[in-house]
This record gives sequence, structure tokens and C-alpha cells, in this order.
Amino acid sequence: MAEPTVKINLDNPTEVARETLRRLAMRRIAPTPDNYQTLYEEIVGKPAPGASAATAASVLAELATDLQTHYPALSNQAANLNKAIGKSDWRQCSFLLSEIAVQLKQPPSDGKDRSQADKGKLARPIDSGAAALEDNLALLRDLLAKTLEFGMVSQLSHAPRLAEKAQQLAVAVRDAKSDATLRAAASGLKSLWVSIELQASDAQQQQEMLKRILLLLVENIGELLDDDTWLRGQLDLVQEVVTGPLKIQSLQEAEKRLKEVIYKQGMVKHGLREATATLKATMTTFVSRMSDAVAANDEYQGKIASHIERISSTEDVLELNRILESLLEETRSAQADSRRAHDQLVEERDTALQAEGRIKELETELAQMSALVREDPMTRSLNRRGMDDEFARESSRADRYDTPFSIAVLDVDNFKALNDKRGHQTGDEALIHLVKVAKEELRLTDHIARMGGEEFLIILPNTPLDEAAKIITRLQRSLTKKYFLDNNEKVLITFSAGVAQRTAGESQEATIGRADSAMYEAKHSGKNRVCLAPEAPVQAAE
Ligand code: GH3
Ligand code: MG
Ligand code: MG
Repeated sequence: MAEPTVKINLDNPTEVARETLRRLAMRRIAPTPDNYQTLYEEIVGKPAPGASAATAASVLAELATDLQTHYPALSNQAANLNKAIGKSDWRQCSFLLSEIAVQLKQPPSDGKDRSQADKGKLARPIDSGAAALEDNLALLRDLLAKTLEFGMVSQLSHAPRLAEKAQQLAVAVRDAKSDATLRAAASGLKSLWVSIELQASDAQQQQEMLKRILLLLVENIGELLDDDTWLRGQLDLVQEVVTGPLKIQSLQEAEKRLKEVIYKQGMVKHGLREATATLKATMTTFVSRMSDAVAANDEYQGKIASHIERISSTEDVLELNRILESLLEETRSAQADSRRAHDQLVEERDTALQAEGRIKELETELAQMSALVREDPMTRSLNRRGMDDEFARESSRADRYDTPFSIAVLDVDNFKALNDKRGHQTGDEALIHLVKVAKEELRLTDHIARMGGEEFLIILPNTPLDEAAKIITRLQRSLTKKYFLDNNEKVLITFSAGVAQRTAGESQEATIGRADSAMYEAKHSGKNRVCLAPEAPVQAAE
């Protein structure tokens, strides 16, 4: 369909701006800066002066100036529109356009003409007729509807209900001819923005967390073959959390529980394997001893051989118990001199049951411990597990939000000498003092973890390399002020440190490795200093 031609004065930026908007509306084109730019150039017949995006924005800015001049009542919105254009905040722009559309439709605020306004009479601008105003209003309505259709609906594919709401609003905005319908559309828009804001901040975090939980579940599933009530309880809780309404807190809780399950299972499995091995060894010895005792009975010899085979081919305590039971059954029917052997077998079985009981005890103990296992009990800094947790958390946050993330490896200088001179106990207190001062000096978002012995890792989220170096140097200085007292004697504790900034996607091992090398450099160049790790090398193809 041909567009009606309109004569416009190309020297008048306001007219060009209005025409640009009109063409956008006529052709149902999304009101992006680039599209403004293209149409502007089409009308003027040459590239608009200045930078491309800025020029496109200036078309909108001219519209804002135009509104300011001709509709003094709209000067606030027009000024805000100008600001939003300056910040390239197109969502805010479309929101303001919707407000302006509502205002243009309102009667003058002197309150005289209300009944007429209700019949659809329009507010009269200073120097323009009602027809021009109607045109402008239609343009704005259409632009707003398009912003919703092209800008919002396509971006809301992850939230079908919001997308549908945006689509319905676009229709409502197009049909909003009366004051009341425009107002209804405006309030619908406001509630849509709020829902979108809430969605955006929550959704990403929730997805990330869910993914991690699923990974943990997969990791764990192979381990879940043993029937263990403590584990079942934990898993039921996790299931409850995951099936209920999703909240960040409950997801974090679920993640924590799963980690405890995995950690504890590793320990228990180890214990179980050892107990099973002992049981197998005693059973094999016993069965062969019995075989000597009943050497005469050929039929029984055959059975014993098969038992030994069964014992050696299983790791399952239940299966071992079943073998024991059948051995008992057979020895009962065996000759009288196997009486002693029978008693011994009963004894062995009791030992096996005791081993099982010990495993249960160990489990209970571990369950109680698991809440504490993130912390090093002596210094109250994080232990390795806590360190791994925080490193993983902070590195995924850094990758997600593209923020810098640095770490520092600290090693106390001449600590062996301090131990030798003042005793191990004083050495311990010196480490406790170091962690205390570090906690006072670091920010609340930083973490200190004990990597082992007198070596610590400091995790500095949202911190670039040079700033991290400054923070660690400051900690070094504060140790000279907050000195350590041993029997009222001032003892200066110093450390050497290596600082590294993690590159996106870099493994924990690699980042710590770089910081560690820098720490050694600090040691070799005289101790009590901070060295910076060079950037991670680009990985060579293998
Ligand atoms: P450098 O300046 O090169 O780091 O020398 P250093 O003496 O600090 O390093 P070295 O590795 O030779 O000695 C570290 C000592 O730290 C050895 C070990 O006995 C002591 N140590 C490790 N853990 C603890 C602890 O928990 N308490 C105490 N008191 N000493 C510890
Ligand atoms: Mg050391
Ligand atoms: Mg040391």
C-alpha cells in the first residue's frame, strides 16, 4: 500500500522528526535507534549529521523538545524522555511515551472543561489544532504498541505469561481511544515492568542454582545404592524443597544438604570398604581352616570351594552375611568336631555385625559434624572444603556478571623459626591472630581460608588485580600495628603473598597455581612483600 505523501520542510528538524515517527508507525517498524536513523536519512535524503546512533536518538530528542515547546504541561515528561534518550534506555523511553500519550488525552488541569473532555474533546495545545494533536497521539499509541510487540514479546519467550500480557497490552494500547482505556493500559504497563524486573533478577539465579543441584544429584545417584536412612532423610528433604515453590533460599538449602550427603558418603564408603575387606579376610581364613578339619568329606570340600569363590567375588556385606548363614547351616549338619568351628563362625558373625554397628555410629557422628566441616576449628577461617565452595560460588558469579575476581596466596615468613624459638602453642596463637586481623581488615564479602599449615588463601570477589594487591599490602601494614603479643612481648608476624586475577573460565587449580608462583617470587625476592601473577597464558591447543 502506498504511503500518503506529505510535504515537509527539510530544514525544520521538528517536522522531520514528526515525519520519521509517522513513517515508523505507517510501516509498522520497530522503533529502534537504527530504524529511526534509516528513516531519518530517507526523508532528508542524506546521512544525518553526527554519529549514527546519536543522530537517531536526536530525532527522538527533537520530538521531546517539540513537546516541551508546544505542550508546557508535558515539560517534565519531555525532560525525562530526553534523559532516557541520553542513557539509551529504550524501555524507559517507551514507558514515557505511554505516559505522554495518556497526558495528551487528558483535559486541561484547570478543571473547567471536564464534562466536555469526557465526551472526547482534546486538550488544546498552544499553537496547534486538535487534528495535529490527534495525529501525534495516534503516532505515540502505535509506537508504544510496536515497542511492546517487537521489543518485549520476543524477549519474554522464557515467560509465556508475561509475553501474553505484553501482547494483550499492545492490543489494548492500539484500541485505547478514551481517557479511561488509556489509563487502564498505562497501569497495565506499569505492572508489566514491575513483573519483568522481578523475573529478570530472580530467574537467572534460580536457573543457575537449579542446574547445580541437578549436577549434584547426578553425581550422587551412583552412590545411593546402600539403604541408609540418614541419606534417605536428606534426599527426601531435598525433594521437598525442589518440588515446592522455588525460592533462592530453599534452593541454597537444598544445595547445602546435597553437598553434605556427598561428603559424608565418601567417608562412610571408605569405612565400609575397610570393614568389608576385614570381614572377607577372616571368613576366607576360617573357611579354609574348616576345610582342613573336615578333610575327609568330599561333598563338603566341594561346597567349601564354592563358598570361597562366592566370598572373593562380592563386596556386599549383606551377601557376605548370607554366605555366613549358609555356612552355619552346613556346619550344623557336619561332624561333631566342627562344633568348635561353628562357635567360631558365630563369633565371626558377631564381629561382622559389630562392624556394621560401628559404621552406623560413624554415620551419626559424621552427620553432626557436617555442619562444621566448612571451618578450620583452630583459626576459624574456612577449611579446604569451605574454600572450594566459596571459590566455586565466586567464580561462577564472576563469569555470570563478568566482574573481576582476584585471589591471594599468603605464606607466613620464617614460621618454623618462630615455632622453634617460642613453641608450637605460640605458633598456633600467631596463626589465630593473623586470621583475626585479616578478618578485621578485609571486606565482609571477602573470605580467608586455610590451605594448610601456615598458608592461607584470600578470596576477593569483584576486585581487579591492582586493587587486590593494595588490599593485601594494607593487611601487611596493619599486622605491624596490630602486632601479636607473646607473654607481653611484641612479635612481628610477616607474610609473603602472591596475587592473581582469575581469567574468565579459569580453573581453581590454575588460578591458585599462578598466585602460588607469585608468592614464591615474593619469598625469593626477600619475603614480607606482595607479588603480582602475570595474566594467565592463552591455552595451547593439544
Ligand atoms: P618461609 O619463610 O620460607 O615460608 O619459611 P617457613 O619457616 O615459614 O616455612 P617452612 O615451610 O620451612 O616451615 C613451616 C612450618 O610451619 C613448619 C611447620 O612445623 C609449621 N606449622 C605448620 N602448621 C602448623 C600449625 O598448625 N601450628 C604451628 N605452630 N606450626 C605449624
Ligand atoms: Mg609454607
Ligand atoms: Mg612459611
